[in-house]
Amino acid sequence: MITPQENFDLQSYNSFGLRVHARFFCAAQSLAQLKSALDFAKQNALPLLVIGGGSNLLLREDFPGLVLQIALRGIETVAEDEGSVTVKAASGENWHQFVCHCLQHEYFGLENLALIPGNVGAAPIQNIGAYGVEVKDFIDEVTVLDIATGDVQVMSAAQCEFAYRDSIFKGRLRAHKIVLSVSFTLHRKTQVNCSYQGLAQALPNNGANASPQEVFAAVCKVRREKLPDPVQLGNAGSFFKNPIISRQVYTDLQAKWPEIPGFEIPQAPQSIKVPAAWLIDQAGWKGKGRGGAQVYEQQALVIVNRHEASPQDIEALANAIIDSVWQRYQVRLEPEVQWVPAFESTQ
Ligand SMILES: Cc1cc2nc3c(=O)[nH]c(=O)nc-3n(C[C@H](O)[C@H](O)[C@H](O)COP(=O)(O)OP(=O)(O)OC[C@H]3O[C@@H](n4cnc5c(N)ncnc54)[C@H](O)[C@@H]3O)c2cc1C
Repeated sequence: MITPQENFDLQSYNSFGLRVHARFFCAAQSLAQLKSALDFAKQNALPLLVIGGGSNLLLREDFPGLVLQIALRGIETVAEDEGSVTVKAASGENWHQFVCHCLQHEYFGLENLALIPGNVGAAPIQNIGAYGVEVKDFIDEVTVLDIATGDVQVMSAAQCEFAYRDSIFKGRLRAHKIVLSVSFTLHRKTQVNCSYQGLAQALPNNGANASPQEVFAAVCKVRREKLPDPVQLGNAGSFFKNPIISRQVYTDLQAKWPEIPGFEIPQAPQSIKVPAAWLIDQAGWKGKGRGGAQVYEQQALVIVNRHEASPQDIEALANAIIDSVWQRYQVRLEPEVQWVPAFESTQ
């Protein structure tokens, strides 16, 4: 039995540090507590918002229902052979601590994803990625609770339909499943990925012969230099996804803007990924703002809560950026951050 708290301040539960309230809030530390919280929401006909660390959320207004934080803990090694190991982590484990745990046990692969804020349970939701690696490359299975039936189900990686910052949990199954745990298959032998230029440059000899520990340290160093720490300056990391456009549209843009960067997508040869940071920066947004919200001076992809921003300040700034990038390039930016209530395109 769990008793949710009423009129709960969510300021320290969202990394933007926005002053919004939940009508009810509780943190579930066991499956029984989680089910009890779901019963409470059902009996009181309350809308439900499931959260982890709140580091990928834009809470646009007070939430009129139950905010349920998943706080299930536990990490276990479930299978191991000479070359690989399967590790299962509960969704309430802190992501970076989990990466550290794996490295300490010499389970390799997740080093590039070090220091991403938030919890394990959210990692499959948007298929977190950084420095040339996506978490989908290591996810074996995701165990979920079906909100409607209360059944526990195991979904294979293929069933999760992972894509760039996307999965079935952001699409068809949005608000239908709660992630309980995630199983990862990792390397037992040293194997590093230094394919990302910015990472290779931060390592001796461009990453040749780098150890996983060195990759981990380099990732942490680069991230600390480039990204604002949400504890000091509220933010939710990259605010927008990098738009994926057709090769033809990219060629047309190149004719007008010869310096526009673009990256090949091996799985989609007719598409090109354009860095949203470049589009926003070139459109003159660095350091500009609306109310207390500002585009971070060192990284145009990040919106920061500079001076006690309201959710409306952040929304107004995000919409102004979307409009201006559209006017200039006819490229549509989409938020990576999850808006609550959901983002609706005005174009
Ligand atoms: C400084 C900074 C840097 C960042 N860098 C990166 C980066 O490099 N790469 C990257 O991919 N992301 C990055 N992010 C975004 C964020 O850290 C990730 O998206 C992270 O996975 C969010 O975890 P969370 O627990 O905070 O999720 P939350 O923000 O609490 O939730 C995010 C979404 O997942 C849903 N959700 C959360 N837990 C569950 C669950 N157990 N079951 C079902 N649904 C759930 C929520 O409803 C919401 O829709 C960054 C954020 C910050 C602040």
